[in-house]
Amino acid sequence: MKTSVTQTILLFILSVLAVSCSTQGPSSKPEYVIVIHGGAGNASNRDINEEKQKEYKEKLNEALAIGENILKNGGTCIEAIEKTINYLEDCPLFNAGKGAVFTHDGRNELDASVMQGWDLNAGAVAGVGDVKNPISLAIEVMLNSEHVLLSGSGASQFAEEQELEIVDSSYFFTEKRWESLQNMLKSEKHGTVGCVVLDKYGNLAAGTSTGGRTNKKYGRIGDSPIIGAGNYANNNTCAVSATGHGEFFIRYAVAHDISTLMEYKGMSLKEASNLVINTKLAEVGGLGGIIAVDKDGNVAMPFNTNMMFRAYAKSTGEKEVAIFK
Ligand code: ASP
Repeated sequence: MKTSVTQTILLFILSVLAVSCSTQGPSSKPEYVIVIHGGAGNASNRDINEEKQKEYKEKLNEALAIGENILKNGGTCIEAIEKTINYLEDCPLFNAGKGAVFTHDGRNELDASVMQGWDLNAGAVAGVGDVKNPISLAIEVMLNSEHVLLSGSGASQFAEEQELEIVDSSYFFTEKRWESLQNMLKSEKHGTVGCVVLDKYGNLAAGTSTGGRTNKKYGRIGDSPIIGAGNYANNNTCAVSATGHGEFFIRYAVAHDISTLMEYKGMSLKEASNLVINTKLAEVGGLGGIIAVDKDGNVAMPFNTNMMFRAYAKSTGEKEVAIFK
């Protein structure tokens, strides 16, 4: 009799322990996660004064809220990426869409890409001068064409066929970017936007949109529309969006490198992204940073510059909006 009471108590303790262990695992993974960036650079606290910092943070917050709302209500990662990036593209503060920088010849040539992690499908556009929201065009390329990357006038023709909003090239004229071309101010070389998401369905996706580099020449294309360089997503590992000196991000296949370090070397997201940004790239002078989320909802936002406009939110209520280190 005594033994059976002890056994019952023991069994009860063991089952309580088992339940609490099994609930700790799944419940520690957030239902959804969204991470965004608005570019990285070497601007200092003086270049971006407190008032400006407040303005940037407000915009990042609003963009984050748009994506979070979609995810909370069961929307997909692609829907969240499109609407969040559309907001940042329409905001003249960032070097994407409306706020795109000027080329050497005084034009605006926009690049964007998107990738979904469950089937490795991707879409991208490069050197587009008349499409209001390049990320939406990249999504159309992914979903409604047999190609991955369209450029220039062909991309615009495809945008018209998909009934996306076409604007006169003067739409992208902003006094600030024009002045920055004239002055080639260091602090104006950043501002690409990006968004990576883990949605309620366990899917990962990444999107990036940019005006490229101020004063770019010869139809130069950076890393942002290059799958594996400035953008990558794989449900087995993570989703990554990059910002920085694109030539380095292409040569070091940055976004894909982070994913493969996780896949083949078993590194955590934090280890892999730190190695690539703060060691591999930093050693060769490749300035910039990335935002990433892995399949378990972990977030990483390393950068080797002074600052990166960045923010994230998780279904658990965890949230951060930051600029400097
Ligand atoms: N990576 C972009 C490019 O090289 C620019 C940036 O992120 O600031 O085109």
